[in-house]
Amino acid sequence: MFKLIDLPYGINDLAPVVSAETLEYHHGKHLATYINNLNNLLPGSGFEDKSLEEIVKNASGGIFNNAGQILNHNLYFLQFKAPSQDNHPVGELAHAIDKQFGSLEAFKEKFNTAAATLFGSGWAWLASDSDGKLHILQEPNASNPVTRGMNPLMCFDVWEHAYYIDYRNSRPGHINALWSILNWEEINNRYMK
Ligand code: MN
Repeated sequence: MFKLIDLPYGINDLAPVVSAETLEYHHGKHLATYINNLNNLLPGSGFEDKSLEEIVKNASGGIFNNAGQILNHNLYFLQFKAPSQDNHPVGELAHAIDKQFGSLEAFKEKFNTAAATLFGSGWAWLASDSDGKLHILQEPNASNPVTRGMNPLMCFDVWEHAYYIDYRNSRPGHINALWSILNWEEINNRYMK
């Protein structure tokens, strides 16, 4: 049985980028529902003792959709911290971003475009391949870079439920604000794995 993760920050700590009300709905209701759904679908499926990653790589239909959304949201909620000015990548990942994209600004522009232009619901991802090369990916609906054999590092959720309370229809406004709450220590740790 999968369980709802605890947030590594207080319910008010991400404001005004992500309000307490958005967190209450996004973590407490949307993510909780995906977990309930998956736990109801698992008995007799053959996936009962598998990890989320294994389920996402091998399942289809409702099991894939709900497991994918749990994996995606766990990575999403655990990559944030309170807002800070001049928030920027750290460690080996900072060097890799500069080397591959030229600068942090160039990387952000490319990532924002991927997040803003994803049609419908889905996720923009930064992922690394087995050579350590970085990739900016658009994944529809519940998909995750593990389906391509890649290591998911950082993600922006562009489902409307992620921003509609705080930003209404302005997906770009939400995307621009998210950069100030990324916990780059955590994201660099994922890159080093
Ligand atoms: Mn979401």
